[in-house]
Amino acid sequence: MILRHRPVELQLRHTFRLARGASDSRTNLIIEVEDDGIVGLGEAAPIARYGQDCRSAARAVERMVENLGDPRDFDRAVDQVSVAGQPAASAALEMALRDLAGKRLGAPVYRLAGIDPNAMPVTSFTIGIDEPEVVAEKVREAEGFAALKIKMGGDDDRALLEAVRAVTDRPLRVDANEGWTLEQARSYLPWLADQGVELVEQPLPAGQREEMRQLKEVSPVPLFADESVGCASDIPALADGFHGINIKLMKCGGMGEALRMIAVARAHGLKIMLGCMVESSLAITAAAHLAPLVDFADLDGNLLVTNDPFIGASVRSGRLVLPTGPGLGVELRHV
Ligand code: MG
Repeated sequence: MILRHRPVELQLRHTFRLARGASDSRTNLIIEVEDDGIVGLGEAAPIARYGQDCRSAARAVERMVENLGDPRDFDRAVDQVSVAGQPAASAALEMALRDLAGKRLGAPVYRLAGIDPNAMPVTSFTIGIDEPEVVAEKVREAEGFAALKIKMGGDDDRALLEAVRAVTDRPLRVDANEGWTLEQARSYLPWLADQGVELVEQPLPAGQREEMRQLKEVSPVPLFADESVGCASDIPALADGFHGINIKLMKCGGMGEALRMIAVARAHGLKIMLGCMVESSLAITAAAHLAPLVDFADLDGNLLVTNDPFIGASVRSGRLVLPTGPGLGVELRHV
């Protein structure tokens, strides 16, 4: 099997402001695995919060491919060679091997997994932290979306949400990105429920398990774990502190682990959201293949980018539509 990889700098439409900082671009890693003349595509979006970058992901992918067993055994083969602390690299390799397997068999990845492409949940569009006028402008840009996700955890969260509510009555999802204290969360949640917020993601810093248990008991809004959950084995311990989890391929290390997370979350009575990092249409489409299995999709990372190198899943009437080609069904965008 031949491996090729290259970094791609994704330019952001708007400066991305989060509780943790701001940025104008992200560098992801695109990989190609070639076997018998068939090429599988994968993408890693390394997460800086966990000390990953494009170079460390590239090294990890090289090492994994050197030691890889049978590429047709994609999930287990990647699991056996995964590099500690580099789940985005594993996710890239596993999606490339699934793409390869689907192309070899002439079938879309969702078909190989027995997933109904028509059972898509509503997907949200993210509005970053910004001045109220800019926020209102962004809400107008997101016209085709049935739900919006608001990034909070800044200095003036109430003003931000009011700015959004002033221009739309669509359902809102809030991501606090670990930005609140228990007391702040207690005071915000009833008000957020009144404002038509359907869920709140990661209100408290990851690790505050006892505080989350207290918060879940009184919260009128479903609480979803993001930074608190990485892979399937994290789920049982947080089931009494959250109502749901946010699964991301780049956190958990691939579509196989995402499927295990879905099963474990269901067994614990948890709701499931499928999220993303800033990613091109390649990794977004890989996640979209699993979206019919979850309750909420938040797969808009490609729409925040102005130079997406790929064409894949699209959004129609607020829901994702999967491409029908073999493998992931993703194609290079010709510009
Ligand atoms: Mg989040």
